[in-house]
Amino acid sequence: MHVHDQQAHELMELVFAFTQERMEMDPPPLDLSVPLEQLQAQAGQTITPEGLGGTEAMRLFEEVLGPACLSIDHPRYLSFIPAAPTEAATLFDLVVSATSIYGGSWLEGSGAVYVENQTLRWLADLAGLPKGAGGTFVSGGSIANLSALAVARTVWRDADRAREERRPIVLLSEAAHSSNASALELLDLRSRPIGVDDADRMTAETVRAAVDDLPPAEREAVCAVVATAGLTNAGTIDDLVAAGDAAAELGAWFHVDGAYGAAALCSSTRRDRFGGIDRADSLTVDPHKWLFAPYDCAAILYRDPQLAKRTFTQHSGYLDVLTEAADWSPSDYAPHLTRRARGLPTWFSLAVHGTDAYRDAIDTTIATAEAAAALIRTLDHLELVVEPELSVIVFRRAGWAPEDYAAWSRGLLFDQVGFVVPTTWRGETVLRICITNPRTTLDDVRACLPG
Ligand SMILES: *Cc1c(COP(=O)(O)O)cnc(C)c1O
Repeated sequence: MHVHDQQAHELMELVFAFTQERMEMDPPPLDLSVPLEQLQAQAGQTITPEGLGGTEAMRLFEEVLGPACLSIDHPRYLSFIPAAPTEAATLFDLVVSATSIYGGSWLEGSGAVYVENQTLRWLADLAGLPKGAGGTFVSGGSIANLSALAVARTVWRDADRAREERRPIVLLSEAAHSSNASALELLDLRSRPIGVDDADRMTAETVRAAVDDLPPAEREAVCAVVATAGLTNAGTIDDLVAAGDAAAELGAWFHVDGAYGAAALCSSTRRDRFGGIDRADSLTVDPHKWLFAPYDCAAILYRDPQLAKRTFTQHSGYLDVLTEAADWSPSDYAPHLTRRARGLPTWFSLAVHGTDAYRDAIDTTIATAEAAAALIRTLDHLELVVEPELSVIVFRRAGWAPEDYAAWSRGLLFDQVGFVVPTTWRGETVLRICITNPRTTLDDVRACLPG
């Protein structure tokens, strides 16, 4: 099982050859998930007492398992939030594993932590967060949001001993990503809704109304206001200034969920939409969505990281050597201890290409989304449901019932043309595409529109 073994050497060749071939495919196969029975028939029991050997295990992956997984980086994968990792980032993901870096502590991974922190600083600078801001990379926006709200709860409780047994309140809109509601459940927090406009955005008026609706006893119980910079369903942006004002008025934490949209801070055309983001106490940004990183990589940034450290640092005799040091250890800034240095692929890609290339790539995706929206406006049978703000386009097909959307979507994937699934808008089934891949062209979008 050691690298010098003959078998290990053959494995290396197999894996590198496969990786190279996959990365050079332009585009990669879109592929299709398949029924369980088919996988049982084609792959069967793959874990055996004697082992299958590298050639057979790799063959199974190449011929059966891999093709049963969609290529999220396919330029016509336009559903949910696609990903489009750079070659540099993907390749460096291999390096992160090959070097067995422990990404939790400065003691064990100072070099990795150093450049992860420069990557976080780049994001903090884009958002205009102060010099002391910092955080860590976690597995996804969901864990980043959970981390932020856990800190908000700690800060609220620590402000007054009488709050120890109380359940604080979080203000958020119904259009906020589902991970926020899930975090409230996990943290046993209550929520109060903020209304939205016809593009799903919290506005100055809806935020004001939500604050005014709070009974006096609840005002004091608000531990956080959550705003979204890039709503998942509509791609629009909440009024961050109004949300920040409300948080300040209530003495509450201000969390900005920019998992998808905050990437557009590095665009040359959309920066002005994010006014107020610099006032965030915490900010989520997922490089694995629109910043060209492979899974899994989400940044959680705190204005005052000490507050996060107070919330998350684990204490035990075997950790004293870490926790008694003054070093910056990523383990202290989220509910995790052992962690992959998952910020390194993003760092490497940024270091290789420079930040201007990121601006250009984001600009390209936004330009494609604008062109796609313009195309939809010219088609009589399609109608935009929301005016696009970033790179999400939501539209309806005249005369279609939910079954028509579902059948069309299945056919598009079955024919390996593209992947576009319906979403729900105000109770109506409609279509939604999201463009985060600079290789997605207007022709790709055109091929993925219903006739
Ligand atoms: C995708 C998304 C999340 C969740 O991120 P994961 O990485 O999927 O956990 C949270 N908030 C917003 C706004 C998102 O778009």
